Order: sequence, then C-alpha cells, then structure tokens
Amino acid sequence: MHIIAQQLKSVLEQLRILERKYQREENSVRLLAVSKTRPAEEISLAFASGQLEFGENYLQEAISKIEEVAENSISWHFIGPVQSNKTRDIAKYFSWLHSLDRYKIARRLSESRSQQQTELNVCIQVNISEEASKSGCAANEVKHLAEQIENLPGLRLRGLMAMPAPANDFSEQRLAFRDLHRLFDDLIAAGHGLDTLSMGTSNDMEAAIAEGATIIRIGTAVFGPRM
Ligand SMILES: *Cc1c(COP(=O)(O)O)cnc(C)c1O
Repeated sequence: MHIIAQQLKSVLEQLRILERKYQREENSVRLLAVSKTRPAEEISLAFASGQLEFGENYLQEAISKIEEVAENSISWHFIGPVQSNKTRDIAKYFSWLHSLDRYKIARRLSESRSQQQTELNVCIQVNISEEASKSGCAANEVKHLAEQIENLPGLRLRGLMAMPAPANDFSEQRLAFRDLHRLFDDLIAAGHGLDTLSMGTSNDMEAAIAEGATIIRIGTAVFGPRM
C-alpha cells in the first residue's frame, strides 16, 4: 500500500477512535484532506483510496490541480485567505469556502456563482484567538456577517471555521475550539440552520473533535511534511 493510502487510513482510524472517546456520533466528523503544495498525483492516490474532499489554499495552484485531476466526484474546498480579485475563480471551481471573513467578499462570490451551479457552501472564519495579524472576522462581528450572508443568493451558510493560535497544551487547545462552538450555538439559537464546525489540523485534531468539530482539516498527517 502506498504511504499516502496508509497515512489516510490511519488518520481515519484515529478519527473514528476519537469519535468514540468523546461520545461523538459515528461518522459525525469528516476528514478534509488538505492538499496544498502536494502534486496532483498524490491527490489522485488519496482519491483512489476513497478520499473525496480536498482543501486548497493557493488559488492558481489549486486550479491547475483541479483541472489535472478532473474528477467530478471530488469536492474542492478553498481554505486560504481570499482577495477580492479571486472571488470569480473561487465561485467557479469550488464547492466550499471555509475562510469567508467579510461582506465584500461574500457579495462578490454571490454575484459570481452561476445559477447552473449549486450554492457555494461557506463557513465564516473567526479570528478566535484575536491575533492582530490573522485573517478572520472578529467574534463580536460574526452575528452581523451571518445575517448579511443569509440574504445573498448563491451562498449557503454552513457554519464557522477557525485556526487558533498554536497552543501545545491539550486543555489550552480545547479552549479556543470551545469558544468557537459557543459562537456556533449562539447563531443556531438566533435561527441560523448551521451544521458545520470546521476546526482542527494535524496538531490539534483531538482537541477539536472533543469540542465538536464536524470537519477536521488535515494536511501533514495525510500527505507528510510540506515541501
Ligand atoms: C495548511 C492548513 C491546514 C492543514 O494543516 P496541517 O498541520 O498540515 O494538518 C488546515 N487548515 C488551514 C487553514 C491550513 O492552511
């Protein structure tokens, strides 16, 4: 078995173990394989092992791989920062965007998403650790942005995403994810029909699953260290 197929299998096994450990329903956490910087052949290998969802951060790189792999059953997720001149291609090539953090981008995506396509699934990225340099909407602006997004055709608000500041202690990792889950619950209480908490990477997937992640975004543990 190829090393990527082995690593994929091992991450999925670990995921199922963690679901049981934290009393999460079986298969309630999905694996997004983050394939940034990895060649198309490795994506094809993971796809051949059954992986259907892939995350990319850099648009030009992503488009060339999407065209090369060209599998209709793959769902492509954009997880990197979005500049406004990139919205047209994101609307064209992707079925998910995890890193939506401002209205201007949402409006442009809505205008670009064609009526022949299904709605673009979006998550609001929250700057949960309040880092000055990080992208993401401030926690106290999430509710307003969610309301604005709900009014835009072509977009379907699915939930929240965060990339907390690194914390090596397990209980500290859990805190940021718990804050994100609380914001998610507030939005649901306000009437938004959300089902997605995109949180957790190779370093903190256990903390994220413990705190209710429904999509974990894993690069290194599947594909190995980035080149
Ligand atoms: C690169 C990246 C990941 C994956 O990180 P790994 O540590 O390689 O698992 C997840 N989310 C985002 C937003 C990323 O940029």
